[in-house]
Amino acid sequence: MMTCDEPVPENSRADLPTTQPSPPQPISEPLAELAQEAGAEPTRRKRGRPRKNESTAPPKCVLPDALELWGGESPHATPPSRLSVFKIEGNEKLFVPFTTHLAPVELHYLDGPTFRGFTRCATAGCILCLIGKRADPRHLLPVFDPLAKRVAVLPVPPAQRPGSLAPLLLPLLRRVQAGELFIVGVARKSDFSYAVRTLPLPDDADVGAALIPEFAAELEAGRVDLTASYPVMTAADVFSVPELAAEAALRGIRT
Ligand SMILES: [Zn+2]
Repeated sequence: MMTCDEPVPENSRADLPTTQPSPPQPISEPLAELAQEAGAEPTRRKRGRPRKNESTAPPKCVLPDALELWGGESPHATPPSRLSVFKIEGNEKLFVPFTTHLAPVELHYLDGPTFRGFTRCATAGCILCLIGKRADPRHLLPVFDPLAKRVAVLPVPPAQRPGSLAPLLLPLLRRVQAGELFIVGVARKSDFSYAVRTLPLPDDADVGAALIPEFAAELEAGRVDLTASYPVMTAADVFSVPELAAEAALRGIRT
């Protein structure tokens, strides 16, 4: 059976601040089913000369329809205000810190053959918690990405171990609070600790001067949901992923 669940290239470590998951898409309905639904209406009409556009239904086809597949409502549809995740891997990446405000979140990391990536824990009644998936805390810090020229969220593990990200960023955020503006270079080392350094701002650097004040005001007013950078999987989403559905079934959890 053909589905639209595609594996997502991803890091294999659950503790890496990494990717924005590419969640499973709904399985499409065959066009034949749609035609059947649409057929209910004409049967109520009077016989006789067909109305305009009525008798021109396309032949039935079992293939999914792109308009249905991509145009329907999806629980994973990207809301306009959703920020991308600032992923840190082996190569140094640059960002400009501009706020000390962050949003705590609990994330599940899924590494199955069909779905791989992070999703947000739905807390009370979370189906992923029920099937034994661990939720790890992350602190989502908005930062300015000077290459992409947009604000993104940096997922920071809150652990205070030496070499972890939070204690390395702490003195830098104190400088931000004091009004300093600078570039931060960060990379993840092979032992999964982090290397962090600061760079002075080049005179001609675009560091979000036109964008950050407005974003910061929206953030402080509570109109930006940083946690929306990660999708929440509903029970229906979970059961649409074969390996998760199998795990649920073994625990006696069914749709
Ligand atoms: Zn959960």
